[in-house]
Amino acid sequence: MITPRPEVPERTSNGHARFPEAGSVSAGRAGGLHPRTPRPDAIHHLLCALLGATLWSCGTGPGDPAAPPPGAAGDLLAERAHQLAQRILILDTHIDTPMQLQHRPRDLTVPGPGEFDYPKARQGGLDTAFMSIYVPASYQSGGARELADRLIDLVESWERTWPAQFRIVRSPEEVEAAFGSGRIGLALGIENGAAVETDLSLLGHFHRRGVAYITLTHSRANQICDSSYDPDRRWGGLSPFGRQVVAEMNRLGMMVDISHASDQAAAQAIELSRVPVIASHSSSRRFTPGWERNLSDELVRRLAARGGVVQVNFGGSFLDEAYRQTSELRQRRLTAWLRETRIPEDDPRTQDYRRELERRYPRPPLSVAAVADHIDHLVRMVGVEHVGFGSDFDGVDGELPEGLSDVSQYPNLLSELLRRGYSEEEIAMMASGNLLRVWREVRSAAGH
Ligand SMILES: [Zn+2]
Repeated sequence: MITPRPEVPERTSNGHARFPEAGSVSAGRAGGLHPRTPRPDAIHHLLCALLGATLWSCGTGPGDPAAPPPGAAGDLLAERAHQLAQRILILDTHIDTPMQLQHRPRDLTVPGPGEFDYPKARQGGLDTAFMSIYVPASYQSGGARELADRLIDLVESWERTWPAQFRIVRSPEEVEAAFGSGRIGLALGIENGAAVETDLSLLGHFHRRGVAYITLTHSRANQICDSSYDPDRRWGGLSPFGRQVVAEMNRLGMMVDISHASDQAAAQAIELSRVPVIASHSSSRRFTPGWERNLSDELVRRLAARGGVVQVNFGGSFLDEAYRQTSELRQRRLTAWLRETRIPEDDPRTQDYRRELERRYPRPPLSVAAVADHIDHLVRMVGVEHVGFGSDFDGVDGELPEGLSDVSQYPNLLSELLRRGYSEEEIAMMASGNLLRVWREVRSAAGH
């Protein structure tokens, strides 16, 4: 049995892996097609960077080993990005740590092997992390609500166990109260509306528990809508129950998340919702042609026209088509090999076979520039106020760009955005301002 990963399609009941149709467009860095012309204020920002960092290094004194090497503009920009990350509120709408810790508990207050923990969050300037309450599609036949409750219990237990490090945040006001307190805010988003089963009153239940958003579906069509990963399009978008779910989420003040939904379902949810909707962890389909899990330009425009935000996913397969196709090929080979050999997934021989696949099918290297390319494209299309960060840390099996491999590394992305001419105000909007605006709007429309 393959361990379910939120962004690797699960096996069907007959043991065959389900994979979305491989894209027909061949490899190539789509990002290269859309060079960003540096803005006129880029020079000004570079000067600010130099000045800011010079002032900073004055404090450290000459010969201090912590001071950046003189004249290294890249290092000065990195230092400015590091300071910016500490100063602004950074909020990430999708981190899959609960699923990781569900069966393997560990101390989140010390540096660990995962992509999220307290020391890494502090280092990266992360202030609020949406913890994904992930309900695999296999629970759609039973146990979905129970699993969601259990995972929320787990996140609540972290606050009790480590009260000096974490606090649950259930509103934008609580996010802001946690900011600067030294505690990392843990917000809740349910990944897969299967958790509400067929009972609308469960939305109220999860709302009371502090769940801020619900991703309508996951890797398969559920009772709410069709999924981008699933060829079964039984509803042609939203189901009749799904329409009620969107209306009830509006009424309660919960954000509707269209990540994972099929194009039709996403378009219908955007249309139907009386308030802006979000894509909690999706990137631009421009870079992965034909791959429905990322958002088409048309959907991005519709979502933005209604005030929503796209929270860009950092996963390699979301960023680059060649990367995605290679990962998919490796996974397909591995699944077939496991089925043929009947060797368990945790057997050392499986690790050897994985390494062999890595050698046989190398992936193109990716850097933070790949994420910035997506951001550039989205910003050029709909403006900076509709873009944010939804990393998918701990949910993509470590398939992340160089320099963006865990929550300690947001400064590297900020540095790249500064280099491309984004102002600190624009970066602060993407880092949290836009999402908080939507969250407030959704709540105030519901009378909160
Ligand atoms: Zn996901």
